[in-house]
Amino acid sequence: MQGLMMDTPLLISSLIEFAAVYHSDTELVSRTVEGPIHRYTYHEAHDRSQQLANVLTRLGVQEGERIGTLAWNTYRHFEVYYATSGMGAVCHTINPRLFTEQLIYVINHAEDAFIFVDLTFVPLLEAVQEQIKDVRGFVIMTDSEHMPDTKLPNALCYEELMAAESNDYAWPALDENAASSLCYTSGTTGNPKGVLFSHRSTVLHSYGACMADTLNISSQSVVLPVVPMFHANAWGLPYAAALCGAKMVMPGAQLDGESIHQLIEAEQANVIAGVPTVWLMLLAYLEQTGGRLDSVDSVVIGGSAAARSMIETFQNRYDATVIHAWGMTETSPLGTVGTLKRKHATLTEDERIGLQLKQGRGIYGVDLRIVGPDGNVLPRDGVAFGELQVRGPWVVRSYFKHEGEVLDDGWFPTGDVATLDAEGFMQITDRAKDVIKSGGEWISSIDLENEVLSHPEVAEAAVIGVPHPKWDERPILVVVPAPGAEPEGADILQHLEGRIAKWWMPDDVLFVEELPHTATGKISKMTLREQLADYRLPTAGAGER
Ligand code: ADP
Repeated sequence: MQGLMMDTPLLISSLIEFAAVYHSDTELVSRTVEGPIHRYTYHEAHDRSQQLANVLTRLGVQEGERIGTLAWNTYRHFEVYYATSGMGAVCHTINPRLFTEQLIYVINHAEDAFIFVDLTFVPLLEAVQEQIKDVRGFVIMTDSEHMPDTKLPNALCYEELMAAESNDYAWPALDENAASSLCYTSGTTGNPKGVLFSHRSTVLHSYGACMADTLNISSQSVVLPVVPMFHANAWGLPYAAALCGAKMVMPGAQLDGESIHQLIEAEQANVIAGVPTVWLMLLAYLEQTGGRLDSVDSVVIGGSAAARSMIETFQNRYDATVIHAWGMTETSPLGTVGTLKRKHATLTEDERIGLQLKQGRGIYGVDLRIVGPDGNVLPRDGVAFGELQVRGPWVVRSYFKHEGEVLDDGWFPTGDVATLDAEGFMQITDRAKDVIKSGGEWISSIDLENEVLSHPEVAEAAVIGVPHPKWDERPILVVVPAPGAEPEGADILQHLEGRIAKWWMPDDVLFVEELPHTATGKISKMTLREQLADYRLPTAGAGER
């Protein structure tokens, strides 16, 4: 027997429509690429999104066509999100930090019909325009006063196009399973792969993101996503904010500590979200200036692991609770979130931070399991570690244009190696390809790095496995010293004593000025391994390898 309830499709247009009616005067504030702060309301954002849908219709954009964006977090990018998906097209957010060949690849693979581009990124497109000839036109996200003199063919001015249209537009009743947006993973190996989100997955993910037990966003919130809208849809915050009518603050191109702090203070942001790298910049700025974070209730940290020192500094010095979260483009991206349960109120501070160092616990909508090398499901005991697999309504089923086998028995293998405990907390111990296989056992490069990072003279650290004649692989440590510091290798190893199992001790310590990073700002172990291809272990004996 079927239920007898309405089958209302879950559409992205319904999010902005809702915000425009029920939170019409709630503000969206942006630092524009041109410079000044721009502010308007959900009501105006909705009007302008409808106006932009008319622009897209006038440009001949068809349902299902991909529209690229190369843009910072600003109100115009927000409008492109809603206008493209809302009219039935697919918003393809392009990461400007991709290497040139990858940039060309994703534009052509997505078959972008038009690209909306911020002033900052016009030169990026000019440099590759010969290789992306199928793009029909480039909409420069500015007004006529700031239009650059560009070599791009068919360059159009956003505000001029908008001025020619009315906001008289009715969002179509689309299939909720229709594609809404497209985001490529940065692809540390091989070509980037496209994750094609649907209206349904996006709306369900937005519900998931707002819950008190996840990011706790509501109409009381002022959300500042420092995480870019070109990276996993700014963790879905532009949708989640509309779903609950939160005020949103978009930082534009200026992600340095001073600019972010200034916006937090001026707009009284209380939920701020970003990767550890941006928080390091913010904390360094606060340290120098004595600045405070009085308005901030929670700092969402994801993308890579939050270090103990970062969690302690935010919580103890600035009274802002850290919400450590894990996810990936393939999971929309929210996968696990590290909010504590009622029973955890009695934990000591040390125990609490120990829990917060984990990547968070399973949330409704994302089912988790860990699997050993022979495919057996491992126990949830917080000790056994294996590949993390996930499934749920906002987890990828197949990549865009169906490249390769994705699912393993209905589960998405994440490529992360993790433990799960009886409480549902997940802790990443490594990437499957980075784990160090020594003497038939696994050494977690991430655990080692975290311990090294607690040494005051270390700014950044990476542990990689290098071949060893007896043990198969042994870990070596590559360190970027803290500014002005000149640490000794022996000192750092001594610091590790007692903190790690003896056989985990790195066989060597190398110092470098900087480590290679991927397009999303993570340490590129692959590049590091290439750079150290000729490296020989002192412990392996001369000539032995
Ligand atoms: P990309 O693959 O483009 O770098 P993603 O954001 O999709 O970007 O990366 C997802 C990966 O980032 C995860 O599989 C995981 O390895 C890592 N990651 C995300 N959040 C965390 C976290 N809190 N701690 C450790 N690693 C994380």
